[in-house]
Amino acid sequence: MAAVHQVTIALPDWINEVVDWQKTYADDQQKMALAVELSRQNVLRGTGGPFGSAIFAADSGKLISVGVNRVMPMHNSSAHGEMVAIMLAEQRIQSFSLAADGVKRELFTSCEPCAMCLGGTLWSGVKRLVCAATAEDARAIGFDEGPVEASSYQYLADAGVEVVRLVQRDAAAKVLNDYLNHGGTIYNG
Ligand SMILES: [Zn+2]
Repeated sequence: MAAVHQVTIALPDWINEVVDWQKTYADDQQKMALAVELSRQNVLRGTGGPFGSAIFAADSGKLISVGVNRVMPMHNSSAHGEMVAIMLAEQRIQSFSLAADGVKRELFTSCEPCAMCLGGTLWSGVKRLVCAATAEDARAIGFDEGPVEASSYQYLADAGVEVVRLVQRDAAAKVLNDYLNHGGTIYNG
């Protein structure tokens, strides 16, 4: 096998059927509804694991990027929904930091982040993290969230990242359970 010098992470083809890029997302409920719908569609369409995320400009309610889990299709253990959304948002604004231009941005995710994505959230520069299903919900179907502790969340808080949990938890947890019940792969390394 030849050496590789480049990696691609792409959203599935159906994204624009589900995402309204022009809409103003008025509140947390509308924003989370998109993240959860992305997770649901990703399972229904068989394009990755049961996780969806979206990044918004907090003040305008404009959508900047979305992410869905692409671990298996992209052969990439880093391609969690949150990381995909973060990478695409940074590409869109052409900055390594979503805080560099002073715009407050927020990450909505259908499930509380794993250890990698919690770190990714910190590095991304988003100022608010909103979660639906809990880490326990993910663990309950077999996904290992890694070393996520109360102190991890405290670290984010100390760094100025507001964290909100349990927004539309039931709807998001149902997606996780549907994934398991329909034979979805639990792909822990
Ligand atoms: Zn993750």
